[in-house]
Amino acid sequence: MTLPRRPLLAAATALVVPAALLTGPSVTGVAGAAERAPAAHRATAKQATAVGRGGAVSTVDPEATRAGLRVLRHGGNAVDAAVAAAATLGVTEPYSTGIGGGGYFVFYDAKAHRVRTIDGRETAPMSTTADTYRGLSFDEAVNSGLSVGVPGTARTWSRALHRWGTLDLAEALAPATAVARRGFVVDQTFRDQTASNEARFRDIVPTRELFLPGGQLPVVGSVFRNPALADTYDRLGRKGVDWLYGGRLGREIVHTVQVPPKDPAATRNVRPGLMTAADLARYRAVRRAPTHVGYRGLGVWGMAPSSSGGSTVGEALNILENVDLGAVYRADHTKALHDYLEASALAFADRGKYVGAPSSMQPGVLGQLTSQGFADERFCSLDQTKAATKPVPAGTPDGSYDTNCDGVPDQSAAVADHEGLSTSHLTTADRWGNVVTYTLTIEQTGGSALTVPGRGFLLNNELTDFDLAPASPTAPNAPGGGKRPRSSMSPTIVTDHGRPVLATGSPGGSTIITTVLQVLIDRLDFGMSLPQAVAAPRASQRNTADVQAEPAFDRAGLSAYGHTFVDPPAPGEIGAVTGIEFRSGGRMVAVAEPVRRGGGDARVVHPR
Ligand code: GLU
Repeated sequence: MTLPRRPLLAAATALVVPAALLTGPSVTGVAGAAERAPAAHRATAKQATAVGRGGAVSTVDPEATRAGLRVLRHGGNAVDAAVAAAATLGVTEPYSTGIGGGGYFVFYDAKAHRVRTIDGRETAPMSTTADTYRGLSFDEAVNSGLSVGVPGTARTWSRALHRWGTLDLAEALAPATAVARRGFVVDQTFRDQTASNEARFRDIVPTRELFLPGGQLPVVGSVFRNPALADTYDRLGRKGVDWLYGGRLGREIVHTVQVPPKDPAATRNVRPGLMTAADLARYRAVRRAPTHVGYRGLGVWGMAPSSSGGSTVGEALNILENVDLGAVYRADHTKALHDYLEASALAFADRGKYVGAPSSMQPGVLGQLTSQGFADERFCSLDQTKAATKPVPAGTPDGSYDTNCDGVPDQSAAVADHEGLSTSHLTTADRWGNVVTYTLTIEQTGGSALTVPGRGFLLNNELTDFDLAPASPTAPNAPGGGKRPRSSMSPTIVTDHGRPVLATGSPGGSTIITTVLQVLIDRLDFGMSLPQAVAAPRASQRNTADVQAEPAFDRAGLSAYGHTFVDPPAPGEIGAVTGIEFRSGGRMVAVAEPVRRGGGDARVVHPR
């Protein structure tokens, strides 16, 4: 099968928010200076879809998209553009991304015709044990130095640029530095995200000074400047990432983690973390083989553990390969969505039992989880007529498959899923055929709430993605020294005869997996265009009693199958996706989320 042909612009939605229309009182901050936007302030107009040639960038933010586009226009490649855009997101989306966090960089190398990946996930300090978080509530863990993993983002950028880029780090950071210095226009999303973190931000002195300028929430329409981050990027570019992993910036990060800069008047117990300079020095952004499954004649490439994204999306697709989902959808939409939800639950059961840090997984299990034989065996547990009682048991990925629906209890289903809804995904492509799909995060919106004093960025709380009270210290996602907590990030590339036809990804904690899965089947099976697939109402079944579904998702028919539904946590949205589709003759359709989280921005170098 090739990618179904669809009108390029179906359901394209453009959001335009002129900064000049935004007003509000002028505020001057201590560190993060916010003041009213000058009428001509740039980069607030957004468009959700762009069609053209010569390269494309899609992110959640117009400043980041334009930074990437500028790099492409000046001869940079998709890797350069991805780093420039990601660094800019560190300025404009500082609660979701930045050099205090980590992520997964997936690259289609046009010269080699290969998909390559970098695992830039945060690691636990060496002194972490399976009991480090036992007895702490989730909130106590988040708001502490204990949640902060060794950040991987700066090493990811330098490694990607060094291996595959054309710019050096200083050049790639330059657009972001400029945005940090001149500032960006505060929108409602930024203000809302600050408001939802206000109490804990107030408790940490440098965080309050930076993100509550003048002690107030940033005003919509004001310009938010981060000169400290501009200076940090500037030095990082000049000194190189060893400044972070073995130099002064690293020592400051360690000090912030070990002695959180709490307001003495705050009553919150902000526990010190375990990170040392030696932990920073031993950090590596790791090159890993991508996951791969075949789906309806196409190749689907994703991120291997420490992310569960590639294996879980891949397993669910392999299960769905057992039905002609397109034909089912045309005959009965509800039945096709039932199959999607049930396949997802089965794949999540296996994710929970078998997937975690690579060093803690059974040898060979990843290959089994992504094998068609295992998925075919799992398919026999998918009741075509009714929703199974959740949690469904995990399968036995032992290489010996038949049609007995045997299963083993999925203990992970009992573990509350605390993954946040933060994170950011960006997608870039260049005129030479290279493609990057990159998801990066600091875990929760606002991370650990610990800002490195004077440096303008927040530290992650990624270590709360571990199972904080594991049944056994050898469980795949048990905390441990040097381990990477299991992620759900799912940057994905789809190829047809080895050439990319689609690249996509999403934020949203463990709903990332179901969002990417849903976008893929919406596009590949259900006949939607990519803009329609990105905009479509979502439902997420992660082996829990209830399906989380956006309000616009049609629940009625599925209830007859026995599915029960709950709303997603506030603000009721699942996953602001970005993606690029590749058409014949070098045409690209760049797509960003039209509405969720205020909408994203997609651009091409030469619009049609
Ligand atoms: N920590 C999550 C993960 O690695 C991402 C955070 C989020 O999307 O909110 O899957």
